[in-house]
Amino acid sequence: EVVIDAVSKSYSGTQVLNDVSLTVAAGEVVTLIGPSGSGKSTLLRTVNHLETVDSGSVTVGGEYIGYALRGGALHELPEREVLRRRTKVGLVFQHFNLFPHLTAVENIAIAPVSLKRLSQAEATERARALLARVGLEGHGDKFPRQLSGGQQQRVAIARALALEPEVLLFDEPTSALDPELVGEVLEVIREVAGDGTTLLIVTHEIGFAREVSDRIVFLDGGEIVEQGTPEQILSHPTQQRTRDFVSRVL
Ligand code: ATP
Ligand code: MG
Repeated sequence: EVVIDAVSKSYSGTQVLNDVSLTVAAGEVVTLIGPSGSGKSTLLRTVNHLETVDSGSVTVGGEYIGYALRGGALHELPEREVLRRRTKVGLVFQHFNLFPHLTAVENIAIAPVSLKRLSQAEATERARALLARVGLEGHGDKFPRQLSGGQQQRVAIARALALEPEVLLFDEPTSALDPELVGEVLEVIREVAGDGTTLLIVTHEIGFAREVSDRIVFLDGGEIVEQGTPEQILSHPTQQRTRDFVSRVL
């Protein structure tokens, strides 16, 4: 479970998140939609403490990722501890950021070995199983440059799953891909969603959001304007700002 509670954040005087509260239950698939600059990425990044918050708090499985509560106030934790806690949150970006000098299997196995102290053999075996799960059996010994963008993104998803995170965050996972490669990546995310993994997704693929989400949250100007089932938000929005956005993107 992810609990975002009254989070606010500004950059040099500009408020980017304004008192945002959002809970993602275990096993739930929640999609954030909204105009460019509405704060979607910033909100997502607060969940694994890639962004600090000015006020409010975020917990994953009941634990703060970047802070400890002491004397009634949140204090930032040392980097080492943040890294440990961050393994509870997988993040897949628009740009897959695989290590170019490592094979697909090595990309997936490296964090479990270095952070969770799995043996290399065990981590390698699990990496191969994860590759099969994302439809890349037989590609494990290839380097990123030998894989298509869609295949690289699927390796990135396998890498995120390797740490068995409590929640997986996706920030526009298909927006850097050639159109013909989008489908294969969405298919993998759809499967992960079906497995009961908790997902928080930012996407511009509205059709996909409709199909995969338990709940859609519309963010505008750093605020949650409206949220509900895909049907409610995409077909029967109650707020004018949501209607305007939906009519532009559908
Ligand atoms: P997009 O759909 O274009 O990805 P978004 O909804 O993800 O947009 P954010 O990236 O969260 O939007 O940005 C929200 C606002 O915060 C924008 O006005 C952006 O310019 C600003 N912003 C984001 N990161 C920083 C930063 N590191 N420093 C200053 N301003 C920032
Ligand atoms: Mg963004």
